[in-house]
Amino acid sequence: MRSEITIDLGALRRNVRTLLRALEGTELWAVVKANGYGHGAVDCADAALAAGATTLCVATVPEALDLRAAIPAARILVMGPASNREVAQARDADLALVVPANEIPEGVAVHLKIDTGMGRWGASELPSPTREVVGVMTHLATADTDLEFARAQVERFREASAPLAHLTRHAANSAAALRLPEARFDAARCGIALYGLSPFGTDAAEDGLEPVLSWTSEIAQSKLLRTGESTGYGRRFVAERDTWIGIVPVGYADGFRRDLTGTEVRVAGERRHVVGTISMDATAVELDRELPSGTPVTIVGRGVPLEEHAAVAGTITYELACGINTSPERARRVVVDS
Ligand SMILES: *Cc1c(COP(=O)(O)O)cnc(C)c1O
Repeated sequence: MRSEITIDLGALRRNVRTLLRALEGTELWAVVKANGYGHGAVDCADAALAAGATTLCVATVPEALDLRAAIPAARILVMGPASNREVAQARDADLALVVPANEIPEGVAVHLKIDTGMGRWGASELPSPTREVVGVMTHLATADTDLEFARAQVERFREASAPLAHLTRHAANSAAALRLPEARFDAARCGIALYGLSPFGTDAAEDGLEPVLSWTSEIAQSKLLRTGESTGYGRRFVAERDTWIGIVPVGYADGFRRDLTGTEVRVAGERRHVVGTISMDATAVELDRELPSGTPVTIVGRGVPLEEHAAVAGTITYELACGINTSPERARRVVVDS
């Protein structure tokens, strides 16, 4: 197999417990949209519920219907918009829907969304609630970068939602769950931290979180580039001296993006640079010697945090994790329980 993606549900359960300790009594809702940030929605949802999460949150009704089929008893909240047909499906499948507050559907549990500064979904004022309304929520734009603005959003939410304080109120994402106690209300909707990734782009271990996903492959071929020879499209890496390189059979079609040139992976335990242009199915790494094919390569995992790759690519771990191609045609996916 070209590469192997390992999902450690033991790590996920420990992350849930770490978050629950930080939340001091506030409910933890597990955000498993986008296939559990690429980690596998059903596996991660099951593990999160077993560890004490109480509701599953997704972005779309189809995501919710998949979860409903796999976990019949779960409480499921759809956070993104739903078409009329999807509202009917949500009713039949006993889902709860977040709705922009002025158009409240009937016969389905509803959480009203107040826009307190994200400037995206949600109404700017609370409408008069119907009996379908069971919750009220907002979403923070800067809990990972600007706590002052986040606090202002929380205060706006506290005031706007005061008439509905008897309903379930929720505002916090992972960053707020970890850094902003006043955002806790009745539940925190945590995604990235469940997967052991830092919402702040720093070392997740500082918050007691363990990465859930690791990704390994191997050197498929070593080759000696003579001085002046190059590897890959565009000849972006030209050997300045005789240089051994290893070819790893993973590329941007697998989610190892083209802008990861220059990042480091571990080859036989040692950190090595990715050189040249990453292609669809292959990546070159610079070696210090010839290595046999089959030499293990850690792309993400022990000693290679996803946060580091995100910094090289100028993006966030969320985007890299969602982009990893876990389809069986490209990678073997293994679920373990440590
Ligand atoms: C994705 C999402 C979350 C989870 O955010 P994290 O930063 O991954 O914890 C929470 N609330 C809403 C509305 C979301 O869309």
